[in-house]
Amino acid sequence: MKERLFAKSSPLSAVFLLIFTFALQAVSVRAEPAPTHWWKGNLHTHSLWSDGDDYPEMIIDWYKQHGYDFLGLSDHNLTQTGERWTGINTNRGRNVALERYIERFGTNWVEQKTEGGKTAVRLKTFKEFRDKFEEPNRFLLILSEEISAHYKVLPIHMCVSNLREVIEPREGNSPAEVIQNNVNAVLAQRKKTGQPMIPHINHPNFGWALTAEDIMGVKGDRFLEIYNGHPFVRNYGDTNHASVERIWDIVLTRRLAEFKLDPIWGTAVDDAHNYLNSGNEKSFPGRGWLMVRAKQLTPKSLIAAMEAGDFYASSGVRLKDVRREKDKLCIEIEPEEGVTYTTRFIGTLKGYDPKSEPVAHKDGSPFPTTRRYSDDIGKVLGEVKGTSPVYTLKGNEIYVRAKVISSKAKTNYYAPGDVETAWVQPLVTGVK
Ligand SMILES: [Zn+2]
Ligand SMILES: [Zn+2]
Repeated sequence: MKERLFAKSSPLSAVFLLIFTFALQAVSVRAEPAPTHWWKGNLHTHSLWSDGDDYPEMIIDWYKQHGYDFLGLSDHNLTQTGERWTGINTNRGRNVALERYIERFGTNWVEQKTEGGKTAVRLKTFKEFRDKFEEPNRFLLILSEEISAHYKVLPIHMCVSNLREVIEPREGNSPAEVIQNNVNAVLAQRKKTGQPMIPHINHPNFGWALTAEDIMGVKGDRFLEIYNGHPFVRNYGDTNHASVERIWDIVLTRRLAEFKLDPIWGTAVDDAHNYLNSGNEKSFPGRGWLMVRAKQLTPKSLIAAMEAGDFYASSGVRLKDVRREKDKLCIEIEPEEGVTYTTRFIGTLKGYDPKSEPVAHKDGSPFPTTRRYSDDIGKVLGEVKGTSPVYTLKGNEIYVRAKVISSKAKTNYYAPGDVETAWVQPLVTGVK
């Protein structure tokens, strides 16, 4: 039967063979996982729609030309919708911005009006400018807002990425409650619309607003800024205030070991407001960003990867691969000529000393800031030089994260002395 089929090949059997071959190919194509890619993006930036000093198109153009794949323009308490005009006469910076804007996009695109000797420019909406820049799997704009809430005088800010409708800041009876109420507002819109969207807690040390204790119990937020490029945000703390990285370690330890909550991943962002000059005393773009490993450059694909922790934060160091395996955290660094790399594996071990005490003034009265914890929390568990650092679990870790520190000075720095760095999300072990 078999022989006859091959010996006496009819046109019909040739067609069957063809269909069979195509079917096989289709199966094999489907069986292979779609390739993933590291997408570079920044989810925290301001434009003239709030307190940034440039037009959205100029900012987006900057990011696109500087190799970014996605961007969220997160203006305070709004999305770029509706009619809004910006006056320019009284502000020299605005005049400069307008000149550059016209030079880049032309008078046909830029809309101006003059009334009573005063000139104003209409700010283009998200809907208007997105088509100018977006390209499938090359560049994506994500509708964003920085919900800018308060507790008394403390600024409590939270970016939301890929929202559909603007979210009014929520109040609360404590900083923790303000965070939770705003997170809940994002989650409610997500549930109502079915659209994936994520809140992330911003710059905890800005205005010394948030402590580790305020953040550690939050439910439904998976992200905390651990590097923000704005010069006023106090990333590194001071003698009385924990750094944002220290806050992250305290939050991770207590969430995982005591509260049995999910980990919170660390993000790096620009929080850029100033685009007209590049002085380091200004909040210029290009300081901190995310590299997200996803199949497609879509909000859905990026958000799913971010929620799974499949991304890292960077101020310059590029990674080829990160593998959070069952018993190992493996990193492959993309080396740069003449640059050396030291990777610190940081984590907390089971049986850590959980005691903490309030920070006190000289007269003994407590200081409203993150409490002082033992050095057991966020300890350096290993340090490896080279481009392929690996940490093998010993079995007593609660989590291990990695900080890849390069020898290369960060020129567009947050603070003098900064070097290009990458922050890898924690590998969380049995204790959840
Ligand atoms: Zn802010
Ligand atoms: Zn901001």
